[in-house]
Amino acid sequence: MPSEDLDLPAESWQWPESTWRGHVDSVRAGRRLTPDRWPGGARVAVALSFDSDHETIPLRDGETSPGRLAQGEYGARAGAPRILDLLARYSVPATFFMPAVSALLHPEEARSYTRDGHELAVHGWIHERNMLLGRDDERELTARALDTLTTLTGQRPVGIRTPSWDFSESTLDIMLDLGFAYDSSLMADDEPYEIVAHGRPTGLVEIPVDWIRDDAPYFTMDRYGSVRPHSRPRDVGEIWRDEFDAAYRDGGVFQLTLHPHVIGHRSRLVVLRELLDHIGSHRDVWFATHAQLCDAARTCLDDTSPSSPAPDAPEHP
Ligand SMILES: [Zn+2]
Repeated sequence: MPSEDLDLPAESWQWPESTWRGHVDSVRAGRRLTPDRWPGGARVAVALSFDSDHETIPLRDGETSPGRLAQGEYGARAGAPRILDLLARYSVPATFFMPAVSALLHPEEARSYTRDGHELAVHGWIHERNMLLGRDDERELTARALDTLTTLTGQRPVGIRTPSWDFSESTLDIMLDLGFAYDSSLMADDEPYEIVAHGRPTGLVEIPVDWIRDDAPYFTMDRYGSVRPHSRPRDVGEIWRDEFDAAYRDGGVFQLTLHPHVIGHRSRLVVLRELLDHIGSHRDVWFATHAQLCDAARTCLDDTSPSSPAPDAPEHP
């Protein structure tokens, strides 16, 4: 047998324990970072986020037809102003994750986020697919995106959400290298946690997401694909209300990922308004940007007592 055959990856059922355990341990959920009470004595934290992708989804795929780009333009032209108006009426802060190309196409919108008291955070350069990039390209695009948002607004973002929540083998190192305080791309818990790499705590806070709490899977469609969305907006609102109610009972976090070009349509935004009415009918609710939530979660990192490990935290150092 030629020697290079020995280097071919074996089938997964042939992997030795060191291989499957090594993959699992590379990026793992560590301590759960849920304080006994949220700031102001609140029993639940509500963190709304909007990914202002706009035209970058078709651009990323090299789809340059005016028809496809117009779907993204809707997010900037109709969706985002409507969302900002709704947030202002309810006095609710939010986090806007914006690809740098989107911010360069709509610089006034990017600046208006921070001017209105919201948070602007990194969401890649052109909504690139990290899983398809080499380490150097992924790092260069992430650094360029960070620099671009910093220059546009005069404020350096502290948080990042990877485009499409793609997380490559290099992503964690790049985040740590560029000094981010938190990531919001992983799904290992309902509550914030510290990311652990090969058993070592990294100090990086994860504010987890999930497709359940994302508008895109319920409402978007591919014109030439066979799948059509069938969700009634108010049915989706019911799912999110149940998510909030359980977070309220648990004393945890209710986090939502929305898109101006998706939720910003008239018949869907009504669901967000009704959800804010439902949340507003509760006492002791803390609305926070992801950065503020990260700060509150980090207070648990300073607490060195082993009182709040995640249920399945790794036992080895
Ligand atoms: Zn996105």
